[in-house]
Amino acid sequence: MDSKRQSRLQDLGITPWVPRKGTKLTQTPRTSAAAASSPAPEPLVIPNGVAGDERAAAIAAMDWDTLKAAVKVCTACGLRAGCTQTVFGVGDERAKWLFIGEAPGADEDRLGEPFVGRAGQLLNSMIAAMGLKREQVYIANILKCRPPNNRDPAPAEAELCRPFLERQIALIQPRLIVALGRIAAQNLLNTETPIGKLRGAVHRLGGTPVVVTYHPAYLLRSPGEKRKAWIDLQLAIRTSAGVRA
Ligand code: URA
Repeated sequence: MDSKRQSRLQDLGITPWVPRKGTKLTQTPRTSAAAASSPAPEPLVIPNGVAGDERAAAIAAMDWDTLKAAVKVCTACGLRAGCTQTVFGVGDERAKWLFIGEAPGADEDRLGEPFVGRAGQLLNSMIAAMGLKREQVYIANILKCRPPNNRDPAPAEAELCRPFLERQIALIQPRLIVALGRIAAQNLLNTETPIGKLRGAVHRLGGTPVVVTYHPAYLLRSPGEKRKAWIDLQLAIRTSAGVRA
């Protein structure tokens, strides 16, 4: 084990869409020649009030550029009015590993990137302890907009944001998803089971395995739990390698 990885372990305390009739959602198709010579097309704005399944189907057909543009202009829930910018996600768009947190906080809202504050530093250490670099994984959140005062995402907000995350997952096709914290785990797995009972098992989202661990912000408050988080990450590593616990 190299010294960098060792010190990271120490940080851890371990030695589709059909438009409704009358709804006009048009967008110029982007050929590669056009992409090279002209600016990006206008983002596809999905009018608020388009039925949930139609909206989800529209989002499920988007490519990366269209998806990013659609997130940027989304006002489906009330959060966009109170935040600085949307926080789409960051990392390798073909990553084997997808880490999903809750929602942007103040630092993420300011910088437009997930997990860049103190919790992000610890997440970086967790990723490094797994022998990975932050750039090799993809990091996203249940919500793309910061809730006021960092309150928990409301169920309606999570539901409206979910098609965006589902499309990210479908485009990335990760080998494994790590759910960071109760909010991410319960929303992803559509359950109210406490995090203590979700840990230690390999769940499934569609065909993708999901391992649940504690949120880095919780680990900052409760460093004694870092050992359990490392056990979760080891389960994730074994699962990703195709070896069952
Ligand atoms: N906490 C999260 O859940 N996500 C972030 O991006 C930052 C902090």
